[in-house]
Amino acid sequence: MEVVGICRCCLAQGLNKDLHSSYLWLDKKENYADMLQQCFSITLTSNGNKAAGICDNCIKTLRTSVTFKQQVLHADEEFQKLLQNVDKAFQQSHCWAVASSHAEKD
Ligand SMILES: [Zn+2]
Repeated sequence: MEVVGICRCCLAQGLNKDLHSSYLWLDKKENYADMLQQCFSITLTSNGNKAAGICDNCIKTLRTSVTFKQQVLHADEEFQKLLQNVDKAFQQSHCWAVASSHAEKD
């Protein structure tokens, strides 16, 4: 559904998409109000039953932001795995050092 009015993210006037409708983009369903909530925890002020618009520029920025958030979260997961591997490697080398120092004493 297209909305004539202001973009709720930048106040640009024009023909905008509806924030609360779902649209298909690259075979994926996207809902801009949900994306704003998930990415930034923003819930826009309701204007009653009137549709709220979002312009194409803001949709692009929002998509980029969502992708960036997912990238950072994914990178952090991978970083945690790396840390665990470093910990394991340290523990293994430490155990080996303890074991070898015992061996030297015996
Ligand atoms: Zn906008």
